[in-house]
This record gives sequence, C-alpha cells and structure tokens, in this order.
Amino acid sequence: MKVYLDNAATTAMDKEVIAAMISVMENNFGNPSSVHSFGRSSRAIIEKARKKVAAYINAVPAEIFFTGGGTEADNMILRSAVQDLKVKHIITSAIEHHAVIDTSNLISKNENVDLSLVNIDEKGYVDLTHLEQLLKDNQDKKTLVSLMHANNEIGNLLPLKKVADLCKLYGALFHSDTVQTIGHYRFDVRALNIDFLTCSAHKFHGPKGTGFLFVNSNLQLKPIITGGAQERNMRAGTENIAGIVGLEKAMEIAHRDMESHENHIKGLKYYMIDELKKALPEVNFNGDPLGDSLYTVLNVRFPHSDMDEMLIYNLDIEGVATSGGSACSSGSAVGSYVLSHLGVDLNQPSLRFSFSKFNTKEEIDYTIKIIKELFNK
Ligand code: PLP
Repeated sequence: MKVYLDNAATTAMDKEVIAAMISVMENNFGNPSSVHSFGRSSRAIIEKARKKVAAYINAVPAEIFFTGGGTEADNMILRSAVQDLKVKHIITSAIEHHAVIDTSNLISKNENVDLSLVNIDEKGYVDLTHLEQLLKDNQDKKTLVSLMHANNEIGNLLPLKKVADLCKLYGALFHSDTVQTIGHYRFDVRALNIDFLTCSAHKFHGPKGTGFLFVNSNLQLKPIITGGAQERNMRAGTENIAGIVGLEKAMEIAHRDMESHENHIKGLKYYMIDELKKALPEVNFNGDPLGDSLYTVLNVRFPHSDMDEMLIYNLDIEGVATSGGSACSSGSAVGSYVLSHLGVDLNQPSLRFSFSKFNTKEEIDYTIKIIKELFNK
C-alpha cells in the first residue's frame, strides 16, 4: 500500500484542477499583454480568476497579485514594506518558514531595519503579551509584524484577529503567511482588518509555482521584480495563465467542500492520535495537536528505539510518506529549527504526518500497523 501523509509539503492535484489547466493550455496561449483577440481572451481569464479569488477572501480584485508561489509572495511583502512603506522594524518569530525568517534576517543585516523575535511558549504558541510589549516599546519606528497563521511543522494556529487588532492599536502593519491555511479555512480580510496575506496553490490541491499576495488597498507597494507592467506594475513577467486558473479552481473546490473536508481530515488526525497512543503508550506530540491546531498537521515524537533516524526511511520502504520537518528541511541532517527552538530533543525521532481529503481511515490503519511492526509491538 502507498500512503501519502506529507500534505503540508505539497498536495496531489485535484482532477478538476488539472482539467481546467489543460483546457487553458490547449485553448488560450495568447500573451495576456497582447492587444489582439488571443491576448484579450487570456487577459479576460486572468481577470476573472482575480475576481473570484478576491471574492473568496472578501477582498477586491485590485488587492490580489498573482505570484510564483508562497516564497515569492512572502519576499515581496517583506522587501516592499521596507522599500516603500518606510518600515524600520520587523517583528517576527524564530519558528517562521524560511521564506519569512531568512528574508527578515537578510533585510535586517543589509538595510537599516531592526529585527525583534517574539517569544514562543513551550507548546509553540506566540506569546501575545510579549508581542504587545515589543509593539509598545517600538512605537517610534514604523513596524511590520510578520507571523504565520499556522506553523507548517507543528500546526499551531495564531489568533489572527487578536494580532491584527494589536497591530492596529500600535500603528504597526501586519502580514500573515497563510500558506498552510488558505484553502483549509475561510478568510475575511475586511473583518480581520489585516494588511497582507500570502497564499500558495499547491498546499490545497492546486499547481506548484502559483500563489498570490493580498495587499490592502490602503497601501501602495512598488515591485521587487521589475520589467513589464504585468500585475498592475507589481510583478513583471508574462503571467502563468494555466497556473492562475489552477489556483482559481483549487480555491473554488476548497470553498465548495471545506466543511466536509475539514470534518473528514480532523477525524483522521484524531483517530491517528488515539491509535498511536494505544499502539505506543510512550508516544508524545509536538505542538498542541488537540488545542488551536491546524487540522491537517500532526507532529509526533516517537520513543527511542534502535532505528531512531531510520524511522522516516523505514516507513518509506513500507510505502508511508511522512516528513522529518518542513518540506524544505525534510531529509536534512541538521534537524528541525522549529522543534529545536521549542526545546524538543532532536535525538528523539519526530515525524510530521500531514493529511488531505484524499487520505482514508484504511491508510491510517495501515500506517499504525507498520509503526507497530517497526517498534515490535
Ligand atoms: N510558507 C509556509 C508556511 C510554507 O509551508 C511554505 C511551503 O512549504 C511556504 C511558505 C513556501 O511556499 P512555496 O512552496 O509556494 O514557495
């Protein structure tokens, strides 16, 4: 049996998404910037997608900029905020995705920008009292807060509205990397009163290399990729029409079926927690899987055995795909910087199991059976 439990790294594309993309590739090859009918039909497809994507998060179309994925969108926000909005101070956390933490570190090294890291508690939650203190102490500088909605390794959720309100109270801008949550939760940018969001289609059964960023219409940013006038001068380069249509279709399906998928996936996660506890009473969990936790992610700390670092490979040999950290760090010898920041013993094997609508209870049963066999239970 082949079981894919690495959906936080990427998801399988939905057949409806593939069909929509093929149709565009076959029928709409015109360059959207061309004035003739071929170009105009491609342009119309992109603008229809922008309108639909915007509506799903209660934004207006002019607030949506299509990108080549989540990393690019995160970079655009952080760099443009410094370049165009006079940001002199970034508050983020040590457990953000590399796209945010590495970019913030680089910006603070190369530009005249201070960097503060908000405390994270032992369960992986952002310390909101410390965040407020940091905001209060730095009111003299234009501040950008960049905190992810759900951590991609441990799944902890950030109370977005609370953080957005705190940022407004102290005059700071707020960006949230929502790469792991758009397509899994409903968003209303007006109710949240948030400045920037970033999205990546491949985390919810869309294509890789396509995403968008939301920029509140009160804010004017200039491009970091220069060239043509695409994306209203915000991101030069001929648009990835098929990717954009794939993103639009994936958003449509995600919003059409969200509650039933959430129930199904949450059921699998809770079932796996129960079955793991029965199979291996010494098992532990990183983060707070039964608390404010992304329902697609379960990070498991296994007891020591004679195959510690081989666990991920032994599961793979039996057909079960998991991850030792985030997509980018799986297979790395250094271990997870997120778990290390939480004080988790990196010599003990921790694996991230991440679920999608395509997973079944039978797949979880098979995975538990393999784990039991590997631990001689
Ligand atoms: N942010 C988070 C939280 C992620 O999990 C990922 C992907 O692993 C990214 C950003 C990067 O997105 P992309 O793969 O589209 O560049």
